[in-house]
Amino acid sequence: MPGPVFAAPYHAKGDPAAAAHTYARFDNPTWQSFESALAELEGGPSAVFASGMAAVTAVFGSWLRPGDRVLIPADCYYTVRSVAREYWSQMGIEPVIVAGDGTRFVGAIRSSPARLVWLETPSNPALQVYDIAAIASAAHDGGALLAVDNTTPTALGQSPLALGADYSVAADTKALAGHSDLLLGHVSARNESLIEPVRAWRTRMGAVPGPFEVWLAHRSLATLALRLDRQCANALSIAQRLSRHPAVASVRYPGLPDDPSHALAAAQMRAFGPIVGFVLTDQASAERFLSRLRLIFEATSFGGVHSTAERRARWGGDAVEPGFIRLSAGIEHARDLVADIEQALAD
Ligand SMILES: *Cc1c(COP(=O)(O)O)cnc(C)c1O
Repeated sequence: MPGPVFAAPYHAKGDPAAAAHTYARFDNPTWQSFESALAELEGGPSAVFASGMAAVTAVFGSWLRPGDRVLIPADCYYTVRSVAREYWSQMGIEPVIVAGDGTRFVGAIRSSPARLVWLETPSNPALQVYDIAAIASAAHDGGALLAVDNTTPTALGQSPLALGADYSVAADTKALAGHSDLLLGHVSARNESLIEPVRAWRTRMGAVPGPFEVWLAHRSLATLALRLDRQCANALSIAQRLSRHPAVASVRYPGLPDDPSHALAAAQMRAFGPIVGFVLTDQASAERFLSRLRLIFEATSFGGVHSTAERRARWGGDAVEPGFIRLSAGIEHARDLVADIEQALAD
């Protein structure tokens, strides 16, 4: 694997069209090799961005114009909704935030035809699974494009493009890069003509990643399958233990056979992801649990090799109970993780 290429301008003589590279806001050989790996994983041409939000806003920004409507699920990543409310809506774009389940979402697509439909599945932090193929066909019937935030499962765990989506978008900050040491995002598209405006947006708006972050993420792909296997196995062990624990009011993990999303998740995902959501009695019991953990770090974000947990309601913005914990399973030994959780939950 070649090392990272650090350059702002490249040597480029005469007609710029004749030069392989001219200026690093346009392209970079380190991006190109990572993007060709992403293209194989996602099944479509891909563009890397400086962060997950830079990738998200590139899809919105390349397509939405005044008068357009965009449908967004109420349980998607908080910042996607806040950007819709605080920026897109003030530019004459109409964001419609839809609460409920997949059936309600398909109903909203049919009753409010949109330019773009945004989806996140499993949603974060609620871990609700939406039917990508059904939503893609409803979106396409109404002339809309469908973009799926694929951050939680990664391209290895789920293939939105194969299920009919036009775009698969991810915060590679999370499980794809997986070491909690960089921010990065990408957009993959069903074909070249859909990725082209997203690349043009990146070039002109300057939402470009540094070559070193891209190189680190590319190197991390070598262990993605190993990490994800272990993280998902650990998440399942934790979810199983929590679902039998008297101090736990409820647990969500799409890999649990009795989870409401399990049947759909099993049909459309190859791996159920590293995140487990569960509810403790109240804010105080959640805070006590977090402060007692010894192996699992209290931190936001998810998908890293070290297990983390947080009380999600401390941020506001998500419809979660005060005692709701979002836990991200790392690659430690399952027995150690379960033991840490048990001692932190003990009376
Ligand atoms: C973290 C996250 C993002 C944003 O990614 P950043 O790299 O923090 O900008 C977008 N969508 C989901 C689902 C996320 O978890």
